[in-house]
Amino acid sequence: MAKLSRKNFFKGLALGTISLPFVIRGCGGENLAQQSSSANVITGKNYEWKMVTTWPPNFPVFGEGCTLFAKIVEEMSAGRMKIKVYGGGELVPPLESFDAVRSGAANIGHGAAYYWAGKSPAAQFFAAVPFGMNAQQMNSWISNGGGLALWEELYAEFGLVPMVAGNSGVQMGGWFNKEINALEDLEGLKMRIPGLGGKVLEKAGGAPVLLAGGELYTGLERGIIDATEWVGPYHDYKMGFHQIAKYYYTPGWHETGTTLELFFNKKDFDALDNSLKAIFRAAAAKVNSWILYEFETQNAIYLDKLIREENVDIRNYPKEVLDQLRIYTDEVVAELVESDPFAERVYASYQDFRQKATVWSKVTEKVFYNDIQI
Ligand code: CA
Repeated sequence: MAKLSRKNFFKGLALGTISLPFVIRGCGGENLAQQSSSANVITGKNYEWKMVTTWPPNFPVFGEGCTLFAKIVEEMSAGRMKIKVYGGGELVPPLESFDAVRSGAANIGHGAAYYWAGKSPAAQFFAAVPFGMNAQQMNSWISNGGGLALWEELYAEFGLVPMVAGNSGVQMGGWFNKEINALEDLEGLKMRIPGLGGKVLEKAGGAPVLLAGGELYTGLERGIIDATEWVGPYHDYKMGFHQIAKYYYTPGWHETGTTLELFFNKKDFDALDNSLKAIFRAAAAKVNSWILYEFETQNAIYLDKLIREENVDIRNYPKEVLDQLRIYTDEVVAELVESDPFAERVYASYQDFRQKATVWSKVTEKVFYNDIQI
């Protein structure tokens, strides 16, 4: 990937309002068997589809994943399906992607389901909830644990077909100019932290602020905000936050494994022959893993850079602060579930899976990580 200067990076951040900040059902074989044999005939028809995204054009990892998706689909279909990818704002504003695909103005969208909380509160469970599941657990729940069927049911109401298509992995907790030693240190704190994480901060006495991505650097520099979260070491390094903030807090309790999505206009998707449907599902699966692997790779490299070259002071949120934020999260999620019957159904599935996955992880990985020296 070409390196972006900070200036160009900002320029690219047309999106801004929400944070930055999933699968393919089996191999598709069982679905194919249920469909009519006529759908198995390759028609030879050629398509030129439009894909809108919630990311600025060529946005590292997220946008690159969309370009990769289009390339794989075109190659696998031997040119029968060509996709033109539009960055946020190029065809429609980023947060109008959902409606653009519903209306048929575009055929495919790429984003994160929590952007559509206003359409359906339940959507957030398919992207991120504070103190939620990690990337591996989210992928497992959606793909093999019942999540996808609920997601498909939810999006079918909007005339869309969802597919899991990327994960940021766990994010970082954000950049601060004062230490967070106790819950009181969050009182009055003006922090850019969107979504449910912002609601949790509010319960702790903080003031979540909505600022466009391109305004974060100057906002923090000039004290318009006291703190900001963004993504992780790779994206945060490119934003230059280490030049103006003293402390880099971990973990990103508010985004523990943010899941990304593709969504298709259902009418357009259903009209495709089975070959193209299978290509889309296979390409989505490839991009789903590529995005996560790229995050893991670049975040590891850039965390090392931040520590060794920039001497960034990495701090852990104190346990008692995290414990209380988790209690507030339970309250926020309870209010969410109460407000929407479909959210209640999704949460029941999510929570059942999480509880079992957490025990499995505690018995194995946690023991391992506790005992290794870093
Ligand atoms: Ca974020």
